[in-house]
Amino acid sequence: MDIIETAKKIALENAAKYGKADKGKVVGKLMGLFKERKEEVKELLPKIEEIVGKVNEMPREELKRYEKKKEKVKEERVIRLPNAKEGAVVTRFPPEPSGYLHIGHAKAASINYEGAINYSGRMVLRIDDTNPEKCKAEYEEAIKEDIEWLGIEPSSTSHTSDNMELIYERAKELINKGKAYVCKCSKEEITGNRRAGKACEHRKASKEKNMEEFEKMLSGEYGDGEALLRYVGDMESKNTTMRDPSLARIISREHYRKGSSYVVWPSYDLAVVVMDSKEGITHAIRSKEYELRGELYKSLLNDLSLPDIELIHISRLSVPGYPISKRDMRKLVEEGLVQGWDDPRLLTIRGMKRRGIVAEALRRFSLSFGLGKQENPADLSILLKENRKVLDKRSERYFMVEDGIEIAVEGDVPDIVEVQKKPDSSETRAIIVGTSVLVERSDWESLEDGEVVRLKGLGTFRVEKEAKKLSTVEEERKGLPKLQWIGEEREEVELWRVSKPLNEDGSFNKESLKKSKATVEKAALNIEEGNIIQFERKGFARLDNKERRVFIMSEGQ
Ligand SMILES: [Zn+2]
Repeated sequence: MDIIETAKKIALENAAKYGKADKGKVVGKLMGLFKERKEEVKELLPKIEEIVGKVNEMPREELKRYEKKKEKVKEERVIRLPNAKEGAVVTRFPPEPSGYLHIGHAKAASINYEGAINYSGRMVLRIDDTNPEKCKAEYEEAIKEDIEWLGIEPSSTSHTSDNMELIYERAKELINKGKAYVCKCSKEEITGNRRAGKACEHRKASKEKNMEEFEKMLSGEYGDGEALLRYVGDMESKNTTMRDPSLARIISREHYRKGSSYVVWPSYDLAVVVMDSKEGITHAIRSKEYELRGELYKSLLNDLSLPDIELIHISRLSVPGYPISKRDMRKLVEEGLVQGWDDPRLLTIRGMKRRGIVAEALRRFSLSFGLGKQENPADLSILLKENRKVLDKRSERYFMVEDGIEIAVEGDVPDIVEVQKKPDSSETRAIIVGTSVLVERSDWESLEDGEVVRLKGLGTFRVEKEAKKLSTVEEERKGLPKLQWIGEEREEVELWRVSKPLNEDGSFNKESLKKSKATVEKAALNIEEGNIIQFERKGFARLDNKERRVFIMSEGQ
């Protein structure tokens, strides 16, 4: 490195930034850069001074060119996609509207979304509504609401059912290429043959015959279960998914969006390939349970001469003690063991929201798994910790006492105090003190006679155990026990504490929802239903029902 050249560069940048180059700053920087050659720098001082002088004579406009380029902060991409091009990434989140979204969906949606925005790309929300027996408008609405609540903004929303003609076209293309056939075997025969690795007679039919049969399927000549379009895979493949899987079947039940316009509905495998291609998806990220279907996905793309798509399988989320699959959760809901899909013990997005988990924490938790495939049980306490971090900054503080004892307050006690709502905010709440306060019995019992305590926001007091009295004292030092207390205006509320709904053996945990009574300062009920506050020294709680005065504590196992 040349000292003079470097000096010029520093002087120019310095002048561009501050309007004038400062000799002291330039020399200082040089000394730092040329630690080993300080003597040389000193010798060059007159020359450096000259350079600074020249730079300062330059017109401002010219100096602008030398503005130091903001060093591109190497932004750590949270989700690193293979072969991703900036601005060209398209991902998708394709839920089936056959149930409520849960923590696993939150993970998939967050990763797809983050993956897209990390590369200034797009994420499509695709309602994968090809099963008229399971899909409902109610679920679709809920999905859209939950995605919005999660803070995910899809670039567009599509429905697989809006693309039935395209799907049929692709199916016909497969028939024409000898890659699909219409099978009329019974369910049992199909299962038996697939297990045995044996092909059925229908596989040998000509393309023309298959096309004719498929048209019959489309025109409604066959009833449910009477005919099936199957892929020409490999009946002996070790990957059983490849043993002539179903591509389309007949379901005559009315569809919630399409009515009875269609009776032939594609299987997931066919629909996903057609839709991913149509929507220009570059990276298809899905959970590991689909990994075996990856071979079929790639084969279909190939058979249909469609461009390749990066297929990424990520770990499936499991949380010990919590049912995650739709079926397991449905069981608890239908048996009435939980109150519904939004029960705070369920890890549905609605359940978590009721429990007081905020979207930001859920998204961060979801992203922490990255594209990893390792299937380790997730620890809910990590999510709750993340949640506390987010809530700690934004939630208001109030006092709550569960098992209270009335203690007289004497001395220089104000009638009313203004207590901060948040640590760093000037917003306050007024508390009317009265002649006695309610404190937690366990707190009172742990205090020694004559001890000095601090009642938060009120002052310091000396404990008089026998007389059940607190008298004001002028003593302010660190380390005093701090208690929450309830003044004159108080309200009785119900607290819910939730924990794992399943025992280790999978049975229902009857202790998973505990209800108890508590007393709160009146202001705690002035908040809006659904808001989350912190009960000091107790934890975060969400006002679940204002009329019934129910707070749900977000902590628990
Ligand atoms: Zn058959």
